Amino acid sequence: MSKLLEIFKSMEYGPAPEAPDAVKAWLDEHGRKFGLFINNEWVTPKGAKFYSSINPANGELLAETTQAGQKEVDAAVAAAHEVFGTWSKTPGVVRARYLYAIARNIQKHHRLLAVLESMDNGKPIRESRDIDVPLLARHFYYYAGWAQLMETELRDYQPVGVVGQIIPWNFPLLMLAWKIAPAIAMGNTVVLKPASYTRLSALLFAEIVAEAGVPAGVVNVITGSSSAGSVIVTHPDVDKIAFTGSTDVGRTLRHQTAGSGKKLSLELGGKSPFVVFDDADLDGAVEGVVDAIWFNQGQVCCAGSRLIVQENVAAKFIQKLKNRMEHMRVGNPLDKSIDMGAIVDQSQWDTIDGWVKTGIAEGGECFQPNIALPEKGLFYKPTLITGLDPAASTVQEEIFGPVLVSLTFRTPSEAIELANNTRYGLAASVWSDNINLALDVASKIKAGSVWVNCTNQFDGASGFGGYRESGFGREGGREGLFEYLRPTWMDRPRPELVLDEKKKWGEHVPALPSQPTTDRAKGHSLPPIDRTPKMYIGGKQVRPDGAYTLSVLSAKGKLVGQVGDGNRKDIRDAVEAAHKARTSGWAMRHGYNRSQILYFIAENLDARNAEFVKRIVEMTGRTQKSAQAEVDASVERLFTYAAWADKYGGSVQETTLRGITVAVNEPVGVIGIACPDEMPLLGFISLMAPAIARGNTVVMIPSQKYPLSAMDFYQVLDTSDVPGGVVNIVTGDRDHLVKTLVQHEDVDSVWYFGSAEGSYHVENESVSNMKRTWTGYGLPRDWMSREQGEGHEFLHEATQVKNIWVPTGE
Ligand code: NAP
Repeated sequence: MSKLLEIFKSMEYGPAPEAPDAVKAWLDEHGRKFGLFINNEWVTPKGAKFYSSINPANGELLAETTQAGQKEVDAAVAAAHEVFGTWSKTPGVVRARYLYAIARNIQKHHRLLAVLESMDNGKPIRESRDIDVPLLARHFYYYAGWAQLMETELRDYQPVGVVGQIIPWNFPLLMLAWKIAPAIAMGNTVVLKPASYTRLSALLFAEIVAEAGVPAGVVNVITGSSSAGSVIVTHPDVDKIAFTGSTDVGRTLRHQTAGSGKKLSLELGGKSPFVVFDDADLDGAVEGVVDAIWFNQGQVCCAGSRLIVQENVAAKFIQKLKNRMEHMRVGNPLDKSIDMGAIVDQSQWDTIDGWVKTGIAEGGECFQPNIALPEKGLFYKPTLITGLDPAASTVQEEIFGPVLVSLTFRTPSEAIELANNTRYGLAASVWSDNINLALDVASKIKAGSVWVNCTNQFDGASGFGGYRESGFGREGGREGLFEYLRPTWMDRPRPELVLDEKKKWGEHVPALPSQPTTDRAKGHSLPPIDRTPKMYIGGKQVRPDGAYTLSVLSAKGKLVGQVGDGNRKDIRDAVEAAHKARTSGWAMRHGYNRSQILYFIAENLDARNAEFVKRIVEMTGRTQKSAQAEVDASVERLFTYAAWADKYGGSVQETTLRGITVAVNEPVGVIGIACPDEMPLLGFISLMAPAIARGNTVVMIPSQKYPLSAMDFYQVLDTSDVPGGVVNIVTGDRDHLVKTLVQHEDVDSVWYFGSAEGSYHVENESVSNMKRTWTGYGLPRDWMSREQGEGHEFLHEATQVKNIWVPTGE
């Protein structure tokens, strides 16, 4: 027995290489030179420029791929556009068969795909074979199912159109699965651009799609540099952009698509916390760290790159981790028994090394195990940096390599604070044997995926995506479908955008007193007692900071009232009040309580029905009947969201995890809402009610033209048990006020139903903290209809999905 133990201790791994022969044969078959894949054909433009694909593990040239330009992108978009008409009308059950055929073909070519992925990217074959390719197939099976069910389960939706998809190099196949599978399942057509470092597997995948008989033009793969990506993003015939990559490029894309009416989803960077409590299974957690940060050489958006350990076990845990690091094997990606392969490119290697040097310069202590690296190729040792300040740039910024930084905490609340102390919010891992504690922490960390006692879990049935600067939109699961759908009533918005370059958007022009009308000048009766409504902030009526007043005129130009002309300070105060109300518990109240409050608001509004009707007639000059219909619809809408307050909490996802994956529809946070001019009461209620029903707090900018209904409404709020700060109302120049909201770091989302120009600016300026936006592009919306004025679209905008994964069993 002791001899056996001795052998185990000294035993070395023998090499277990996977053969590259099949990949080489495939590359040779193509003459090691690839064109673009357009309309199911290889297209090599005349005078094309080429780009070399290099194996980062040994520097070997694998093949050359084409650099697409404007003309080639135009051709690919035209192909996708051309077939969209038929593909989108192809019955879902038929599209399902195509996706199913793709999934089957992926499985048939599993080995070829995995080996090619490892050779092109440098990732261990163990990962490409057991994770990337199985997940690729899984996504096509999963979304084949949604294509099959679309006509019955998603009958209020239609496909978006031609989708431009841009992906990074860290998971080339998985990223394209996340994007292509839901898009084509829902009847869209696709132009995909893989990252420059890793183009080959997308080209092999394109062949697999054609082999499955998918009609020409449905999936087009364009290789090229970032400028080809830019051409896709700005192409007028592209209806949606789905991007995965760095936050900086995500910002550029937000700018480029602003005001265009294109849908946009952004899956961006991260700096995810890995929290270990003292009661956790420490050995299990050490293995978790290995999977969290050294999976794919740490080139993982959701890598657990910030270790946060409870202080009383920190020394012990770090020692265990260092011991484990001494046993890691870094080497040939095609060797089945290595833990880490090669870094994708020299420039990425240099960036990682630069960060490690920065970490040391910032006072960190760097540990790298004493293990051998291959002499040739882009390999980097697993690295741990301890002793850093939480504000150090190495702790705050994404390194995107095998570098872990570690911090300590004493109490659960300190752990949560440290975990959330980042501009990102992609994922988190929480380790504790106390299930109450683990789930409480999971619910309080701001991240799209939280893994309890596990890490880096993915599946087609569960959405993935970020909070804050990790982007918006979800990929995977049912929630991922909505990125590729539009309500049936809505055409692709094509706003008529004329930007006035000379005028500074949102500049404040102080209001002047209104001119006296003949009506007021006449007669000798007593003048009416002034009842100028104030702002409504933190549950109190407050005077406008700037002490300016706006006149509200009727359709005939008669003065019907005055409101405060709000400024930046009023908005900042309102945001602060909304924040206080959010953190002091509006989101934590149960849905039953929020629904009771919404019913109470409805009841109190209805009690003052006649008064609100009169006000609408007075301001808008509409008929009594039309105003009555608006007030009745407003009461009805409050009932609708009282109903939704306890019915949109989430679902259990049917993933492959042995355990439970729960999708929680969390509130977005503080939402700034600029209301439309038409329907001054109904527009206001249609936007406020879903937001607060789902636990958000709001800063409302009512109709600029007809603000008085909203101001009358705060008296309804006052009598309906709405806690102060949940609804704040600031009147004034809509664009001036919304500009402050959209630039505010503590506002999580802005909804804007003003002009096309304003919609452009809101989207464009939202990049400061990558907040979500929802804009109407100045296009008409029938607020009276239930189809356009309420429902899933509103609830979707009022929530963000967090998936919590909890394995079960011993
Ligand atoms: P990147 O530099 O942002 O590039 C991503 C893709 O965008 C590539 O195809 C790139 O093309 C293209 N691109 C670059 N500039 C562009 C522009 N101005 N217009 C249009 N396309 C442009 O990111 P990366 O270095 O490849 O990937 C690493 C980043 O991706 C990390 O931040 C990581 O966290 C993030 N990521 C996020 C997720 C997620 O789900 N949230 C998943 C994986 C990775 P070229 O390659 O030709 O330059």
